[in-house]
Amino acid sequence: MTNSQADRMTGRQTLDYGSEKIDFNLSFSPRRRLSISVEPHGDVVVKAPADATLESVLEQIRKKAGWIIRQRDQFAAFGPVMPPKRYVSGETHRYLGRQYRLRVTRGELPSVKLVGRFFEIVTPDKSDSAAVRKLLDAWYRRRALKVFGDHLERCLRSTYFRKLAFPEWSIRQMKRRWGSCTKDGVILLNLQLIQASPRCIEYVITHELCHLIHHNHNAGFFRLLDRVMPDWRERKRKLEMAGT
Ligand SMILES: [Zn+2]
Repeated sequence: MTNSQADRMTGRQTLDYGSEKIDFNLSFSPRRRLSISVEPHGDVVVKAPADATLESVLEQIRKKAGWIIRQRDQFAAFGPVMPPKRYVSGETHRYLGRQYRLRVTRGELPSVKLVGRFFEIVTPDKSDSAAVRKLLDAWYRRRALKVFGDHLERCLRSTYFRKLAFPEWSIRQMKRRWGSCTKDGVILLNLQLIQASPRCIEYVITHELCHLIHHNHNAGFFRLLDRVMPDWRERKRKLEMAGT
C-alpha cells in the first residue's frame, strides 16, 4: 500500500457489527501485528501494520468485536447513577456512604453543617433549590479535597506504586464517570464520589493510579489492579449498586 492510501484510511473509521457501531481510530506504523485497545475514556484505538489493507483491518476488528463491545460497556458502567434531587427539607443526601436528611432553614447568612443525621442548610430563600444545591456542592467539594487527598496519599503508599510521584489531581463534576486519568497523568475525580463509602473511594483512586502505569484497560492493567486490590470487583459492584 502507498503512503497516500494509508493517509486516507488513517483516523476515524466505523465498523457496523449487528446492531452495534464500533467507532475506532486507525493508524498505520511499521509493526508486525494489528493491535486493538479500548482507552480508559472508551475510545477504540487500532494500530495496523504499514502494509495492511482496510479489508484486513476490518476483518480483524470484526473477530474481536465481542471483546471490544464488552470493554466499552464495562467502561460505560463505570459511572454514577444520578436520580434528580429537589434540594428540599426531608430529602436524603449521601456523604461517605451514609444517608443524611436535609433540613433547610431560612437565614441571612448561608451555611451548611453536618449535625447528627442531618445536613443543616441555612439560606435566605428556602424555595431556591439551585442556591441550596450550590451550597451543598461547595460543602461536598471542600470535604472531597481533604478526603480524596488523604486517600490518594494512603493508596500511593502501596508497594506497587512506590515509584510514582504524587500525581496532579483535581475534582470535577462528571456525568458518566467516577474518575479518569488523562494522557499526561492527571487524575480527575468526580465530585459525586464523596457520597460513596471510603472503600469505594479507595477503589476508584486505586483504579486511576493503576492507569498511571497502564493507560489502557489491558491485561497488564487488570493484573496490577488484582494485585493492589484483590477485592476490587466487590467494591465496584457496591459503588454501582449504591447510586447516590
Ligand atoms: Zn479505567
